[in-house]
Amino acid sequence: MIIVMKQGASKEELGEVKKRIRELGYKPHVIHGETRDVVGAVGDERGKTVLHSLESMPGVENVVPILKPYKLASREVKPEPSVVEITSEIAIGGGELLVMAGPCSVESEEQIIETARAVKAAGARILRGGAFKPRTSPYSFQGMEEEGLKLLALARQETGLPIITEVVNPRDVELVARYADIMQVGARNVQNFALLKMLGQLEKPVLLKRGMATTIQEFLMSAEYILSEGNRRVILCERGIRTFETATRNTLDISAVPVLKEQTHLPVVIDPSHATGHASLVPSMCYAAVAAGADGLIVEVHPCPEKASSDGPQSLRPADFAAVMQKVRLFAEVAGKRL
Ligand code: PEP
Ligand code: MN
Repeated sequence: MIIVMKQGASKEELGEVKKRIRELGYKPHVIHGETRDVVGAVGDERGKTVLHSLESMPGVENVVPILKPYKLASREVKPEPSVVEITSEIAIGGGELLVMAGPCSVESEEQIIETARAVKAAGARILRGGAFKPRTSPYSFQGMEEEGLKLLALARQETGLPIITEVVNPRDVELVARYADIMQVGARNVQNFALLKMLGQLEKPVLLKRGMATTIQEFLMSAEYILSEGNRRVILCERGIRTFETATRNTLDISAVPVLKEQTHLPVVIDPSHATGHASLVPSMCYAAVAAGADGLIVEVHPCPEKASSDGPQSLRPADFAAVMQKVRLFAEVAGKRL
């Protein structure tokens, strides 16, 4: 249910509404809007009609059901877009197009520092790099783990770029959170609800990737797991879904961007690297993403893709990435975003 407060309702009235929601066995989530506050009361769907009684409380305008199965992620609860702060200077979901770039995996100090410098010079604001890798084969490189996290921290120190890195396992959440500025949930973990709940208890942004066989509704329900635990800093990432097509590694669902924009206030990012699987296809998908209204991109870049431990074929060389960024800047301008 959404409890819409009256314009100018007092803090005390809001406090009383929250208290009553808790007494009825629901969790209140306050969303401060431009003109008025609304309170999302979430919990057991079956008895929610008891919440209608809140309509007679002082400061309450009306009580309306949230029609979507996801609540806090929905535009019904929060019509204006969410701007997710990464640091005091960097945010996503507002007027800026945020580009995250770096290798699939952290491999060595030299590799991550060189890449970090190159992507920064090209205009990326966030460094990506996997230290824990979810690989299809148990015999493939699994990542440098904490050693990789330390190298990412070193690259951040050297360049000032905040870092995004994946957490694969609930037992590593605390460790990864000690290093990461953004916690990445990979496509294979989109419905790892234990992991999502843990991330919901952090005060750190989470980039949630869509699974390769996840509908948009399921994707938003996964985001809801994080939001409902209290963490509002969720960024969605479309990275291609599985279809019958084999020319690309996955099929980039570009229409997911406008669909998500209609359904949710959360920022949306496109990953053209995992979507296509081929470096030659990455540039055009970057431009398409920006044209479709994405708030950001996450792109794999490697100083020497032929030697990469993972995802070399889809990784751009630094010079190619720099050229793509020049053109992305133009598309961003047309889309009304700054790079
Ligand atoms: C990655 O970002 O390197 C990765 C493994 O992505 P995905 O979870 O989208 O496959
Ligand atoms: Mn990868």
